[in-house]
Amino acid sequence: MTASDTAGLLERLKALLGDSGVVEGGAQTHAVLGMSRLGTPIAILRPKSTQEVSACLRLCHEARQAVVPWGGRTGLVGGASSDGAIALSLERMNRIEDIDVEGATMTVEAGAVLQTVCETAETNGLFFPLDLGARGSATIGGNISTNAGGNRVIRYGMMRDLVLGIEAVLADGTVVSSLNRLIKNNAGYDLKQLFIGSEGTLGVVTRAVLRLRPKPKSQNMAFLAVDDFAHLVRILRNVESGLGGTLSAFEVMWDDFYSLVTTPPAQGRPPVPHGHPFYVLIEALGGGQDDDAARFEGVLSAELESGSIADAVLAKSKTECARFWALRDDVGQVLRNGPVFTFDVSLKIADMDSYAREVRAALLARWPNATLMVFGHLGDGNLHLIAGVGESGRLAHEAVEHIVYEPLRALGGSVSAEHGIGLEKRPYLSYSRGADEIALMRTLKLALDPQNILNPGKVLEAQGPGGPHST
Ligand code: ZN
Repeated sequence: MTASDTAGLLERLKALLGDSGVVEGGAQTHAVLGMSRLGTPIAILRPKSTQEVSACLRLCHEARQAVVPWGGRTGLVGGASSDGAIALSLERMNRIEDIDVEGATMTVEAGAVLQTVCETAETNGLFFPLDLGARGSATIGGNISTNAGGNRVIRYGMMRDLVLGIEAVLADGTVVSSLNRLIKNNAGYDLKQLFIGSEGTLGVVTRAVLRLRPKPKSQNMAFLAVDDFAHLVRILRNVESGLGGTLSAFEVMWDDFYSLVTTPPAQGRPPVPHGHPFYVLIEALGGGQDDDAARFEGVLSAELESGSIADAVLAKSKTECARFWALRDDVGQVLRNGPVFTFDVSLKIADMDSYAREVRAALLARWPNATLMVFGHLGDGNLHLIAGVGESGRLAHEAVEHIVYEPLRALGGSVSAEHGIGLEKRPYLSYSRGADEIALMRTLKLALDPQNILNPGKVLEAQGPGGPHST
């Protein structure tokens, strides 16, 4: 587009949304943990309704103008990066429209903040189980478009499992209302799944029906120290079966990460002593405190007696539970020793220990002062790796990416367990997906967004914003 075309489009968008609905230019960067890359959009649109989103997209579609949907902008893979594009922020569409207590559903606009949704569910005696570090700013629309995972996937699944219905606007402005409230509905294709996890490349999610669960009546937590990776796997399996379906988190931290979040200047203090190779945070959510606490203690006592657990401490209050979670959530500490690169990989539990050792050895071979923090959702086969090599440039990043991703090919792992592909992992999509799978992704993209205006270049390569698809 020429500058005058762009100016004309912005005038039409302003006429549509009013002056407060269009923010032009300026340094609208918003870094989360210093790792998010947002670029500088031409303008930020702030529609207040699905109809306004639809009208904006119709105008941008006619003008072949690239549009990048924005949720809470807490992503870690550059999915909201919007240099030269128009950003479409859902921040003013943040209402909780309806809560059906008997049906256990909540209907929300896409800009609703995750924490607000969770708190509203609790106020009504219900529970929305998605839980992740960015809960205070991440939005439901962003959680949907990235198929967010987080801490309780082992019990409740990823966002894909927590959404019953969706309303989305297609690239040309068509509104697709699929606000299903039924748990079971096999009447044709499950269209919502097209928009869940597709990172805003197939449509803009505007509203959703969320599936709520009963509010747990008990929360039991423990922090364990474990001396052998094989013990970790045994504990996971025994706890999973011993707790009869109430296990809601099994978060593992390698010792470097545990030391980092339990040593000043971090606020946290070690619940169990330093000096073990692995630490585990376990949480169970159940139906009655006394019975559940007895079962929880019983299962862990058996593991202690068998020698699988080297040391353990139980949370004795809600405050202690919160303190345990605060350690796991204090990922920001990784920035205190210089620039880092973050990764989010999936692989079989059986391969994790040797994989982490291999990555660490390869980093140290090249950068003798390299650091590697490993932690993650062991029960989901998902590890987060944070590598510091004293450099932050593109070449260093690519070298570290190579070390982290290359072994996953042979292991059948995934370069993205839960953060998505965005821009950052796009060169590595083929490590985890076959040529036939990527070809089908392209077919879907072309069918739903033939002008390639929706978050172009994210997930799949494009020839340029608003340009034709590469083949
Ligand atoms: Zn995670």
